[in-house]
Amino acid sequence: MRILVVAEHDTEVLRSGTRSAVAFANSVAAQTDGEVECLVIGHRIASVAKEAASISKVLCLDSESLTAPVADRYARVIADVTIQRKIDLVVAASTSYAKDVVGRAAGLLGGSMASDVVGHTVQDDKLVLRRPMFAGAVTATVTLIGHPQIITIRGSAYEPAVASVDESEIITVDIDESSLPNHISFEKIETRSSHRPDVTESRIVVSGGRAIKNSDDFERLVGGLADQLGGATGSSRALVDAGITPNDFQVGQTGKIVAPELYIAMGISGAVQHLAGMKNSKVIVAINNDPDAPMFEVADYGLVGDLYELVPQLIEKLHAE
Ligand SMILES: Cc1cc2nc3c(=O)[nH]c(=O)nc-3n(C[C@H](O)[C@H](O)[C@H](O)COP(=O)(O)OP(=O)(O)OC[C@H]3O[C@@H](n4cnc5c(N)ncnc54)[C@H](O)[C@@H]3O)c2cc1C
Repeated sequence: MRILVVAEHDTEVLRSGTRSAVAFANSVAAQTDGEVECLVIGHRIASVAKEAASISKVLCLDSESLTAPVADRYARVIADVTIQRKIDLVVAASTSYAKDVVGRAAGLLGGSMASDVVGHTVQDDKLVLRRPMFAGAVTATVTLIGHPQIITIRGSAYEPAVASVDESEIITVDIDESSLPNHISFEKIETRSSHRPDVTESRIVVSGGRAIKNSDDFERLVGGLADQLGGATGSSRALVDAGITPNDFQVGQTGKIVAPELYIAMGISGAVQHLAGMKNSKVIVAINNDPDAPMFEVADYGLVGDLYELVPQLIEKLHAE
């Protein structure tokens, strides 16, 4: 199988999900006598291409017209490279970027797509995939019919590919810029600068729920504990809906899927839609004043009580360490 991994990056470093996508691709390639190439798209991306070459052979497409990740342009590039290089399987990490860009590429290619894959086997040269459905209530086993196949994998389900000592080849790919779509023009990107790690990439995530009354309390309690532990902050949808936390903090079925080594849920009841985004965390700690809160059913450790009393004590103890 000829496999193309679509790299996601910030022009300087690869997103960790891409390493997991390469690990998935390597595993499939090993079982199908296949070959893996990693496609790095953007402008001034030499350092990302070099990093990608430590885990895979690289196709690098560096063009000023691809400076901003405008979905219709990137999708066209992915589709063109897939056709040119006779790719059988396109792989990416399951992220907002992939939903926007890789989904469109799948549409252009007319192949078949499975998203959020968490496991796979190869049977008679056919890829058999496992993916959660209905907020993780069931896991479906599927095979794809059609060519090429397009798959996004859940980063937390695959150990990231580790860098090898020898750097792989970096092949420069050219495109006909005039053939790229021009229907969307990039205006600006608005991001919050934060000293904390991204919720999907952090080993520790501290999340707050409806029990937190306002942004100041969130920063003091959730942010304060996260900082003591060197972790990221997340939240339930209740806080996003209340305007207390930004949209990209939301963990859950319609938010981010995380599986950190430690997930602390404070004042979060444990609705199925929230659990869908964090229940695969290695260690879960629940802090809640309701001993019957469903979050305790998935928690490894629980603290029953008022978080407004307990969390400042926890922060103080950790600070004193
Ligand atoms: C289609 C759909 C998609 C959804 N997607 C998501 C999603 O992606 N992510 C998500 O999170 N939700 C999602 N939801 C919403 C979800 O169903 C719940 O409504 C939401 O998760 C509840 O958030 P919560 O646990 O913060 O609030 P609540 O359910 O209100 O829980 C608050 C908890 O805080 C406890 N508490 C209160 N005061 C204190 C205190 N002082 N100290 C300690 N504990 C206290 C309470 O006992 C309670 O358990 C979705 C819903 C739908 C219908």
